[in-house]
Amino acid sequence: ASRLKATVTDVIKKLMGLGVMAAQNQVIDFDTASIVAEEMGAKVEKEVVVTIEERLIDDSEDNADELVSRSPVVVVMGHVDHGKTSLLDRIRHASVTATEAGGITQHIGAYTVEADGKQITFLDTPGHEAFTAMRARGAAVTDIVILVVAADDGIMPQTVEAINHAKAANVQIIVAINKIDKPHANPDKVMQELTEYNLVPEQWGGDTICCPVSAVTGEGIDNLLEMVNLVAEVADLKANPNRLAKGTVVEARLDKGRGPVATLLVQNGTLHSGDVIIAGMTVGHVRVMTNDKGAVVNEAGPSTPVEITGLAEVPAAGDIFNAVEDERLARELVEQRKFDQKEEQFKQYQKVTLDNLFSQIAEGEVKELPLIVKADVQGSAEAVKQSLEKLTNDEVRVRVIHNGVGAVNKSDVMLAQASGAIIIGFNVRMDQAVRDSIEQDDVEIRLYRIIYDAIDDVKQAMKGMLAPKT
Ligand code: GDP
Repeated sequence: ASRLKATVTDVIKKLMGLGVMAAQNQVIDFDTASIVAEEMGAKVEKEVVVTIEERLIDDSEDNADELVSRSPVVVVMGHVDHGKTSLLDRIRHASVTATEAGGITQHIGAYTVEADGKQITFLDTPGHEAFTAMRARGAAVTDIVILVVAADDGIMPQTVEAINHAKAANVQIIVAINKIDKPHANPDKVMQELTEYNLVPEQWGGDTICCPVSAVTGEGIDNLLEMVNLVAEVADLKANPNRLAKGTVVEARLDKGRGPVATLLVQNGTLHSGDVIIAGMTVGHVRVMTNDKGAVVNEAGPSTPVEITGLAEVPAAGDIFNAVEDERLARELVEQRKFDQKEEQFKQYQKVTLDNLFSQIAEGEVKELPLIVKADVQGSAEAVKQSLEKLTNDEVRVRVIHNGVGAVNKSDVMLAQASGAIIIGFNVRMDQAVRDSIEQDDVEIRLYRIIYDAIDDVKQAMKGMLAPKT
């Protein structure tokens, strides 16, 4: 209204005429706003705000005619001791040709092998934790998951988790039924169990490729790699080598002599030595670039892992990296990202915990303390709830927003995140999923065996007298 030099009532009337029932200070979309403004005699132009990120990083789609085939990126997952590491080692060594045999193999976190004249890139960190940690940072790195299941053991809890993680990421699964050299190996049983997770073996008319292998004798490994190539061919993986490189940090560390060292997986474009890159919160020039065989290289195309030096700081595994043209802007962008991160941390710090409760009450930040109570039986859940709510005083109201029976589970955590609540458990534990993700979830969970201790902690926290957690 002020820009139109009109009254708010005039604008609201116009909006009502268009069937939009808007109140003052309500946000309306650009199209509606422009109709109203034009009807009221103003000229409308859309101001496009371009962020540094958008100016610096070329996120345009590639034209189909610029795309060429690229090799698949594979990760190995499965239950502990089912042979992930052995399989990765076996694949790696099987591919070392006679000329390379004496040479040093460099462990940089990823390696490429050649099978049937085609390249395959393996991520060298087995397990779904690394995979999911990368995914949580927004990195979609892998094309194919090799799910290792020991033929003498069958599907185990981490196998199921791996299946679920792969499915959630929409990644193709190839099953390697490992340890077939063992006397008690029973591949049929594994295939039977797989069907329970909607992975029906091709042998039985389904579309899940199952390869019997032995990481120890090497049997079936060639066939497994052939299948990887087959799946990759069907997936028709493409990239554009003629653009600035973009990819993911696979590993990074600080080397005493060389400074920050990072393994980058190029996912699109070509990385050249000398390029300016921005990786997460750090910038630098690619100084020395080495491949997984330890050879110095000057460029790395799509699906190629390389180790580089030259970054100012150590990035985090899973950070996305981009080669950019403007170093000054890149530095600005990193500053901005750091600032944004600090703000985010500050916001999290502001969250109520029993430890900062008192100071937040004192600052008038907190008027209500939301709690979630879980107990072993409904009677105790009720008792804990009532005793806690009785702690309400003039400054702060204690409110139990949910109480229930059983272990602290993911849905409690989600509720706590959404409502800023603290979880109090009485004679219960956290279930596995909660324990697995407790670091990221950033929710305060306190477990007690004695009702009095729970009540007392909250009471002391309200007075700012809580003893530090041991
Ligand atoms: P990871 O925990 O999944 O990485 O499993 P490892 O690769 O560490 O293997 C666990 C154990 O199983 C080791 O003692 C390996 O030697 C053994 N193992 C792995 N693959 C095979 C196999 O194909 N046959 C036999 N007999 N043993 C295997």
